Amino acid sequence: MTIDNYKFAGQKAIVRVDFNVPLDENGNITDDTRIRGALPTLKKILADGGALIIMSHMGKPKGKVNPKFSLSQIKDAVAKALGAPVLFAPDCAKAQQAAADLKPGEVLLLENLRFYAEEEGKPVGIDKEDPAYEQAKKEMKASQKEFAKTLASYADCYVNDAFGTAHRKHASTAVIADFFDADHKMLGYLMEKEVQAVDNILSNIRRPFTAIMGGSKVSTKIGIIENLMDKVDNLILCGGMTYTFAKAQGGKIGNSICEDDKLDLALDIIAQAKAKGVNLVLGSDCVAADDFSNDAHTQVVPANDIPDGWEGMDAGPETRKAFAEAIEGAKTILWNGPAGVFEFDNFTDGSRAIAEAIAKATAQGAYSLIGGGDSVACINKFGMADQVSYISTGGGALLEAIEGKVLPGVAAIKG
Ligand code: AMP
Repeated sequence: MTIDNYKFAGQKAIVRVDFNVPLDENGNITDDTRIRGALPTLKKILADGGALIIMSHMGKPKGKVNPKFSLSQIKDAVAKALGAPVLFAPDCAKAQQAAADLKPGEVLLLENLRFYAEEEGKPVGIDKEDPAYEQAKKEMKASQKEFAKTLASYADCYVNDAFGTAHRKHASTAVIADFFDADHKMLGYLMEKEVQAVDNILSNIRRPFTAIMGGSKVSTKIGIIENLMDKVDNLILCGGMTYTFAKAQGGKIGNSICEDDKLDLALDIIAQAKAKGVNLVLGSDCVAADDFSNDAHTQVVPANDIPDGWEGMDAGPETRKAFAEAIEGAKTILWNGPAGVFEFDNFTDGSRAIAEAIAKATAQGAYSLIGGGDSVACINKFGMADQVSYISTGGGALLEAIEGKVLPGVAAIKG
């Protein structure tokens, strides 16, 4: 079933959203991107004459009630965004009556799902090494099913629009789907867009395809790098991982960030790229600093000849030119992870060069997907969010999807 085909009139829809928004110490929302992301789905259901039961997690309350993570704090903001009053169910597992009383056009927001350990389905307060752990896990799985069944009982249909948690097999993201047949469960608009974006990168590729992987470490990106190696024409590896590659090839990297236990892996990636005919673009020069701070002294040096006491903080001018060349001619572009310590204003040039080249290629018809917290922060910092094709809302979920893993939240609906 799809959200455009389902007849919501007179129906109750339980919708899993990701309203895990950041709050300040007074409980005010500091970034409402996630609420805005779910609005098309929520508004569509209301406009069609359906009633909404909205459910989400917030933070990590670890199965315990904790007012700090109460979704009651965002009730008014949700009402304002929807342009409709929102009722609140203070216990998500005891909302039968409130759900039954809902009339078409009405909205019920459930309290934080993670106030119940059943949401995540992991036993709490028992160590994995404990001999009783396996039994506790079994019991938890059974009560997770019951919890999901209770949530399912509130509604006629189930919509999952929480891409941010699609890589988790939780009660509200996957298990609940077992209680609805294929005609009564569907992805929301945001999920559909995210799934399509990943498909554009993994299956529906227009060539040349350039992937840019940055950030601090090779180790956290290796699954993606290996999956992409079979698909891309150009692979730019930048950011902190530059120096692991430089050292692996015998370079001098001063105090630069480096994973010494990943030197062989770096050499293996270089060999794989060669064997597969992938144009691997690594930094040749860098902006080095004498301290990890915005106000440090800087100099441009070869990325494999950094003086003692200095560390590579950003891509150098020659490297930025090479990045731009590999990006500007591309028809499909993926960017995850900054090219330097972009949080410091004096080390943003490498990431800015990438963003500008992506914007240029996109203006010429390329498809560009930006994902993963820090590259999204980068593109926002540069005010260029409207110059790329798609910015993913999912951190871990996007990365797992690009690694080629099946997302439980999507599989539960699409099979
Ligand atoms: P990740 O979470 O692995 O995507 O890495 C993002 C982080 O990598 C950002 O906080 C950047 O500041 C950091 N980063 C990028 N380049 C470097 C570098 N040359 N040295 C240290 N950290 C870096």
